[in-house]
Amino acid sequence: MMLYMPTIVYSEKDCVKNHSKDIAMVGKKAMIVTGKHSSRANGSLQDIVDVLNENSIEYIIFDDIEENPSIETVMKARNIGIEEKVDFVIGIGGGSPLDASKAIAMMIANKECDESVLYQAVKLEALPVITVPTTAGTGSEVTPYAILTIHANRTKKSISHRIYPVMALLDSKYLKTQKKETLINTAVDALAHCVESYLNTNSNSLNRTYSEKGLKLFGEVKDALAKFEITDDVYDKLMDMAMIAGIAITHTATSLPHGLSYAVTYELGVPHGKAVGMFLGGYVENYKNSNDVNNVMDMLGFDGASDFRKYLNDLLGFVEVSSEIMDRNVNDLMSNKAKLKNYPFEITKEELLGMAN
Ligand code: NAP
Ligand code: FE
Repeated sequence: MMLYMPTIVYSEKDCVKNHSKDIAMVGKKAMIVTGKHSSRANGSLQDIVDVLNENSIEYIIFDDIEENPSIETVMKARNIGIEEKVDFVIGIGGGSPLDASKAIAMMIANKECDESVLYQAVKLEALPVITVPTTAGTGSEVTPYAILTIHANRTKKSISHRIYPVMALLDSKYLKTQKKETLINTAVDALAHCVESYLNTNSNSLNRTYSEKGLKLFGEVKDALAKFEITDDVYDKLMDMAMIAGIAITHTATSLPHGLSYAVTYELGVPHGKAVGMFLGGYVENYKNSNDVNNVMDMLGFDGASDFRKYLNDLLGFVEVSSEIMDRNVNDLMSNKAKLKNYPFEITKEELLGMAN
């Protein structure tokens, strides 16, 4: 058994401001990587800019990261970063800007490489990355993963490199500007990380510490989410749950629901958490170790797998996926050996098709 989490995590009110000196020690010129609007609306971008100004650290802002970021966007930002001679990257936003910031940091540090290196199994360094999450979902603030859209393959895929952020700064006040759908979808993504990490070939009694904590935290907020009564305490718990769920999947990776979600997001534009969540109830109901399923249900506070599946369907609503897309999706997953090996049992195409909501 092995545990490894090199990212320093701070989680507190006014976190960015409190760690001004820690941020300033990371580099001399920053590239801030963020989305088009939300980091301006929730104050996270201004907080980082204030800290950089206060410490006389130079910076440039790349605010053109789209949802489900593409290789093309990463390469565009990397070219600017090289030209501007930045020496560290600060990702601010949901999983999309955070994932992009890792890939950009690696591509800037390897000027001689072209984009093909993103999916090659070679060991490469990256510039230091600081993350400031503004959704409570992906856990990208601590995971070494970066999932990019590959338009040529009409899907999304994690790059081959593991890039751990050096520091994650968590402040739940940034979550408050989210639309209801974003908050729910991202919370379900974090829930899926805990469930898929616990019910996983790679889980063990040590690394389950993380998924267990995340499942219990979700259990404490699940009714508030269903009623959409989100207090400060719920925001705090969601923020910490998403982070701890990120540490869980860092140790085990995700499993079938994530594997089934990527084509649904690409083809239908269904947000990541919702696309994962539509397969999560079916995953648990079909899982062949009933002791493990019962443990998960106990920690979450559900009566059983069908109760859990109903909760998810009520929370997320139904997503219609044509049989043509599902067929292609399932065929892709059946040939994705890396994802399948995280599932400890044999699985058939029919079982996979039955996991949809
Ligand atoms: P996202 O794609 O980063 O953001 C979704 C939307 O929410 C964007 O329109 C964004 O606006 C907005 N938004 C973000 N924070 C907000 C806030 N505080 N208030 C209001 N709006 C806000 O969503 P996400 O679900 O967090 O990330 C999904 C991506 O992460 C996917 O590409 C997924 O594959 C990846 N992912 C990565 C990991 C990992 O381990 N690395 C794990 C799971 C998923 P702006 O565009 O204006 O910012
Ligand atoms: Fe996810």
